[in-house]
Amino acid sequence: MSGERTFALVKPDGVKRGLVGEIIGRFERKGLKIVAIKTIRITRELAEQYYSEHIGKPFFDGLMNYITSGPSVAIILEGKDVVPIVRKMMGVTNPVQADLGTIRGDYAVFTGRNVIHGSDSPVSAEREIALFFRKDELHDYVRADEGLLYD
Ligand code: UDP
Ligand code: MG
Repeated sequence: MSGERTFALVKPDGVKRGLVGEIIGRFERKGLKIVAIKTIRITRELAEQYYSEHIGKPFFDGLMNYITSGPSVAIILEGKDVVPIVRKMMGVTNPVQADLGTIRGDYAVFTGRNVIHGSDSPVSAEREIALFFRKDELHDYVRADEGLLYD
């Protein structure tokens, strides 16, 4: 089985709204492996590194306030093609356009409170995983259904 990994984050609105179990459950039922998971209160300093590609954009200050407004749940998921799979499960950035059946499409109504983040490429995933986790926080194990998920 391929060791492709992605980084996902249930944002502070998702945590405060009690959506953590629902979101993690979707990933588990899809067949993705949870390699690491923790609750983290993102500091302004980490937020600026995490979202450095958006520095200078009109929504940046609002995004900093949002992402530091409470605890988030950071997750590393593993599986074949896990980066595009998680992006598809999240839905597009604006929940108005996100398809029903996606996390944003089902649980959000506004871009500025869109519940979840997921890495947009394998390169972003590697960068974001390194920002949020130490190597000894990642766990290697075999899912009981792995033989059924892959040929
Ligand atoms: N965002 C926002 N207003 C915008 C665009 C983005 O508040 O007009 C926030 C939103 O929380 C989004 C995050 O900034 O998820 C990062 O934006 P990006 O374009 O990278 O979207 P994503 O990759 O999260 O779909
Ligand atoms: Mg993005």
